[in-house]
Amino acid sequence: MVRPTWEDYSKCIHCGLCLNACPTYRLLGVEPDSPRGRIHQMILVEEGRLKLADSFVRHIDLCLDCRACETACPSGVQYGKLVEAARAQIEQHHRRPLFSRLLRSLGLRHLLFSLEINNADRPFGADSPVASFGTDARRLRIVEVVFVARQHGVW
Ligand code: SF4
Ligand code: SF4
Repeated sequence: MVRPTWEDYSKCIHCGLCLNACPTYRLLGVEPDSPRGRIHQMILVEEGRLKLADSFVRHIDLCLDCRACETACPSGVQYGKLVEAARAQIEQHHRRPLFSRLLRSLGLRHLLFSLEINNADRPFGADSPVASFGTDARRLRIVEVVFVARQHGVW
């Protein structure tokens, strides 16, 4: 994986035009769970001004990696490249809590993605801010995000 450069991070001009495109921002309504907020945290971690600890990990974990923010960004931020680098950093330098490690080792993610949710089982209604975000697999990812959010006490 190619490590992002300062030029990659600095393309974000904090305009906020990506916010409405981001399902986690629309769902949770907080800046640290927006593309702009996550990029800001990545920069702080790169500069050593924010610890690569639970808070940062939680906000990066909650990102769906859907890249809707890339499409909306007028500045050409390659968000996918940035979040993948952040995730690689986390896996290399952060020891997750035991419960989280257990879930991952049990392959919950693969189990979730192997299930199918039909329309009647959708976790969110048609008016939900996340209803328009794609495939069943993506909705399952959202279920996973909600699970992680609850696990970390977001609500
Ligand atoms: S739209 Fe692009 S430049 Fe604007 S805040 Fe979002 S990531 Fe940054
Ligand atoms: S990849 Fe999707 S969830 Fe992650 S910050 Fe971008 S729009 Fe939001």
